[in-house]
Amino acid sequence: MNRSLTNVLFGGLGTGDRDSEDMEDIYEGKITESSAEEIVMLMETAQRVVIVPGYGMAVAQAQHAVAELVELLDENGVDVEFGIHPVAGRMPGHMNALLAEADVPYDKMRELEAVNPTFSQTDLVIVTGANDVVNPKANTDDSSPISGMPVLNVREAQSVAVNKRSLSPGFSGIPNPLFAKYNTSMLFGDAKESMQELVNQYKDAAS
Ligand code: NDP
Repeated sequence: MNRSLTNVLFGGLGTGDRDSEDMEDIYEGKITESSAEEIVMLMETAQRVVIVPGYGMAVAQAQHAVAELVELLDENGVDVEFGIHPVAGRMPGHMNALLAEADVPYDKMRELEAVNPTFSQTDLVIVTGANDVVNPKANTDDSSPISGMPVLNVREAQSVAVNKRSLSPGFSGIPNPLFAKYNTSMLFGDAKESMQELVNQYKDAAS
């Protein structure tokens, strides 16, 4: 006994004791959960939105729902783009290939170097199924396995919505302080279902 709630919920995750402790320190009491409805409210007032896909979008095959969401935002006059990390997913160019399959125009796909300077002028970032590629520990923790890896600096945006199924770590096995940031809200769920929910609610809100 004598374990905190976070330890019970997430204690089995991470790659070892240190990661479990890190996870508890980083997440305990600091996670904000949001509904699709709340994210849609942010979308409605946003002038610029960046979507960051990762491995979970590939697993869920959410690219068509994500493409539809971008199309709707675009039709409503929102400046919307994808922020693509070169190692997002499990093979080079994974995200570009999936988005091209869903007929996303190439000019909507911005690479890391091009999109990073724009986050500070972005109202909303929607991260779907990505984790390591948006983990600020790459810049702040020398002992982390992703130390020195360039990451998408999404935390600089006004608001960040992170969609994944849980607080489980990604490929590198480490916690992500982005999830606990004051301007981040978690939209827990499968990427395809969650993106479809955003599409449906955004359409409803516009009608
Ligand atoms: P990550 O592996 O860091 O994270 C993926 C996240 O997707 C998980 O945390 C998981 O969280 C979530 N996820 C899984 N299934 C679903 C689902 N159905 N719906 C929603 N979310 C889901 O992915 P990134 O793309 O951010 O980073 C890629 C990582 O892979 C990097 O560490 C990179 O170095 C490494 N890599 C890349 C290669 C490449 O060539 N591109 C090759 C080998 C490794 P949850 O379980 O909570 O849903």
